[in-house]
Amino acid sequence: MNITIEKVLPCLADPEKIRFVAKIDEDISEILPYLNAILPKAIYNYNGKTLTITVEERIITIYPNKISAGKINDEKDANEIIKWIKEKIEYCKENKGKIIPDYRRRDKLEVLHVYKLLPKKNCKKCGENSCLAFSMKLINEEKNILDCKEIFLPEYDEKRKLLFDILKASGYKVPSVY
Ligand code: SF4
Repeated sequence: MNITIEKVLPCLADPEKIRFVAKIDEDISEILPYLNAILPKAIYNYNGKTLTITVEERIITIYPNKISAGKINDEKDANEIIKWIKEKIEYCKENKGKIIPDYRRRDKLEVLHVYKLLPKKNCKKCGENSCLAFSMKLINEEKNILDCKEIFLPEYDEKRKLLFDILKASGYKVPSVY
């Protein structure tokens, strides 16, 4: 298996750093749940077939055929990250019989991340006493984002888009048009 850097770009989050996209020359979809099992801090989206890991500040997402990463120090750092990921993939392949694949979606979506993007009106129209309570239920999938009608007001357009992007990336259901 080869992993080759295809693009190196300035990092959007930190102009001092870079981001990269690398191609994996085979489909590793079936390895993702094994990586999810051995990387306890990974965020795994089974339906979206992505696995995101944070390694010191670097944010790395592994797809079936590619890797994208941000907040990378430089190209040397990028190559080291690729080497590390490659070793993990090879390890999973070689030890498939010993590792129990983990298909669970493991999200690190924080309540406060959601709360910050809600209208924070505490209007109770969603049936909860506060936006914070709603955030917790949303994360636990006891509430749906559609229960908060306020977020669809034009004044929240920007926050709504960000919130829906975060929810979608973590595997939650969001309306297809928002
Ligand atoms: S409807 Fe929305 S704004 Fe109102 S309390 Fe619930 S989450 Fe907060």
